[in-house]
Amino acid sequence: MRPTIGIEVHAQLLTASKMFCACSAAYANAAPNTHVCAICSGMPGALPAINRRAVEYTLRTALALECRVEGTSKFDRKNYSYPDLPKGYQISQYDRPIGVDGGVEYAVGGTRRRCGIIRVHLEEDTGKTTHVRSDGRDVSLVDYNRSGVPLMEIVSAPDLRSAEEAREYFAALRQILMYLGVCDGNLQEGSMRADVNVSLRAADGTPGTKVEIKNLNSFRAVQRSVEYEVERQRQEIAAGGMVQQETRGWNEAREVTVGQRTKEYADDYRYFPEPDLPWLAFRGEEIEAARQALPELPAARTARFEREFAVPAGMAAVLTGDRTIADLFEAAVREAGSATPREVANWVVGDVLRLMNERHLAPEEMHLTPERIGRLVGLVAGGEISVTAGRQALEAMVERDEEPEAAIDRLGVRQVGDEGELTELVRCVVAENAAIVADVRRGKVAALNVLLGKAMKASGGRANPGMVRELLERELAEG
Ligand code: ZN
Ligand code: MN
Repeated sequence: MRPTIGIEVHAQLLTASKMFCACSAAYANAAPNTHVCAICSGMPGALPAINRRAVEYTLRTALALECRVEGTSKFDRKNYSYPDLPKGYQISQYDRPIGVDGGVEYAVGGTRRRCGIIRVHLEEDTGKTTHVRSDGRDVSLVDYNRSGVPLMEIVSAPDLRSAEEAREYFAALRQILMYLGVCDGNLQEGSMRADVNVSLRAADGTPGTKVEIKNLNSFRAVQRSVEYEVERQRQEIAAGGMVQQETRGWNEAREVTVGQRTKEYADDYRYFPEPDLPWLAFRGEEIEAARQALPELPAARTARFEREFAVPAGMAAVLTGDRTIADLFEAAVREAGSATPREVANWVVGDVLRLMNERHLAPEEMHLTPERIGRLVGLVAGGEISVTAGRQALEAMVERDEEPEAAIDRLGVRQVGDEGELTELVRCVVAENAAIVADVRRGKVAALNVLLGKAMKASGGRANPGMVRELLERELAEG
C-alpha cells in the first residue's frame, strides 16, 4: 500500500482591495461587516470588476511555479448555497485557469524532490460564520468582511508519497509565495490553508479511494493529519473494510481526522462562465516581462549560496529560509573585511537567528544592517575582539541599536594585542605561579593551559589568546 497525496492550497493575496470591489481586503482586526459593499455582500444587480493586482500576483506565481500561461483565461461561477456565500455562487476559475502544468522543488531529509502543479487559479474568499449561544438560543452570526478577498488556489499533482513530503511541499510553496511578495504566509491567521487528498495505492497499482482533509493551517497539522489518515486507511483495509470517499476535518486537540460529509453529497457545482466579467487576455510580451521580473527563488538561491559562498547545504537552506535574512547575509558578506562568507554565515545562522527567535523579533526589528553585521564579524575575524566579546556586542547592538564599535568600547571588550602590555602580563603570571611553571618545565603540557587560563583571567578575558600562548612559551623557554 503506497500513500498517494495531493494538496490544494488557498493563499490570500496581499492586495489592498478585494477581488471584485473596492472594499479593503484587510479584514483581520475590523469590526464585523464594516468592509462590505453591494458587490461583496451579493446584492442583486451589483457588478464586479477584476482586481488587476490580484491577476498580476497570480500570473507571477504561475510563472514562478513553472506553469504554462495561455493567452486567455476566464472566470466561472461555482454554484452552491451557504450562509457565508451571499451571492449563492463563488466567482472562481474552472476550465481556463491562469496557469497549468508546473512544478515545485522541495527537499526532504537533504534530498531534492519535485511535485507537479496541476493548476493555479484565482477566486474569491467567503465570509465567516460563527455559531454562538445568545440569550439562551443558538444563533449563527455571519461576517462578510472576508467575503470577496482575493484567493489564489494552487493544486498539486498527486506526487507526494509521505506525510513528511506533504509538509515539506507546503513549506516550500509558502516560502516561494513569500519570496514573490504575493502572500504574507501567516498560517495562524489563515493566509494559507491546505486541503490534503490522501489515498492508498494497492501493490498492483490500483488507485485507492480518495479522502480529503480540509482546512489545515499549520505545517504540523499537514504532517500529523496525513500520518493519521494513512494509518487509518491502512487499518480499515487490513480489517477487510473499504475506505469511504469523504471529506474529513482535523481535530487538533484529539489529533484525529473526523468524517464530515460523504460521497452522497458529492459536490455538483454546475459551473458556468461568469457573464458579468470579461475574459482575461495576456499578451506574450506581458508574460515575458513578468517572467523577467521574478526574484531569485529559494531553491536557486540556496544552490547559489552553496556554490558562491562555500556554505554547507543545510546552512544555505537556513540562510534562505527568510528572504530578509538572506538579503542581510548576502549584503553583510560584502562588508565583512577579512572575514570569509562562511564566518558571516556562522554568525547569522548561529547568533543572529538565535537572538531573533529568543526575543521573538522580526528581522526588521533587530537594528542589524548588513554593515553592522559585516563589521562585527570582520572585527572578530581580525582578532580585535574574541568570539565571546562578539556575542556580547551583538546583543548590545540588537538591544540598544548600537554600532559594533560603540558597543565594543562601551563594554570594554576590545582585545589586548599589544605585545608590550601582554609580555608584562605573562611575566606577572609566571612570577606568581612558580609551582605550575615548574610542572611545565618538567614536561607537563597541560600545565601550560593552566597558565594560559590564569593570564586570560587576569586580562578580564580581553587578551589575545594566541599571542598569550606564544609569549608564555617564549618566556618559559628563556627561563
Ligand atoms: Zn465590497
Ligand atoms: Mn477553491
